[in-house]
Amino acid sequence: MGLLSVLRKLKQSPEQEVRLLLLGLDNAGKTTVLKQLAAEDIRHITPTQGFNLKSVQSSGFKLNVWDIGGQRKIRPYWKNYFENTDVLELAELLEETQLAAVPLLIFANKQDLTTAMTASELAEGLNLHMIRDRMWQVQACSALTAEGLQDGMTWVCRNVTIRKK
Ligand code: GDP
Repeated sequence: MGLLSVLRKLKQSPEQEVRLLLLGLDNAGKTTVLKQLAAEDIRHITPTQGFNLKSVQSSGFKLNVWDIGGQRKIRPYWKNYFENTDVLELAELLEETQLAAVPLLIFANKQDLTTAMTASELAEGLNLHMIRDRMWQVQACSALTAEGLQDGMTWVCRNVTIRKK
């Protein structure tokens, strides 16, 4: 059973669609997370040609998954100017007016590996304590074993802001 069916029951307002944007670098584990979430809806995962975008639509949930790595070609150039491109990209996203006040969940993935950064190292590295205009949370997880994914998604369901259409 996919996690989405569990989450459907948790949603504050069942008639409202929850739209999730899952962003991350190449190889971070986004596709693996998506597969865990959508176990029963796997056939609906559609890679979109030309963009590094996959989406899953399930009753009440719409998940769009983007590779930040889509900017791979220009990344080497950015590196000349900015030491920490990933943080910059996150900071830019948080400034998007369309994403204002949208809760931010960071999955600290691959916790099954001893080399993985811990959730608190990640929070510190990304300066998350500076974020004051939205709810945020770092969730340790392993997309491989699914550990932590449900906790993360439960947080999402509890913190989604109901938006006016
Ligand atoms: P994406 O590029 O972000 O979509 O990343 P993928 O989901 O394709 O995963 C990239 C690689 O990392 C694959 O070989 C996955 O099996 C592996 N991977 C993803 N999540 C985990 C995890 O939690 N633990 C470990 N050990 N490997 C993972």
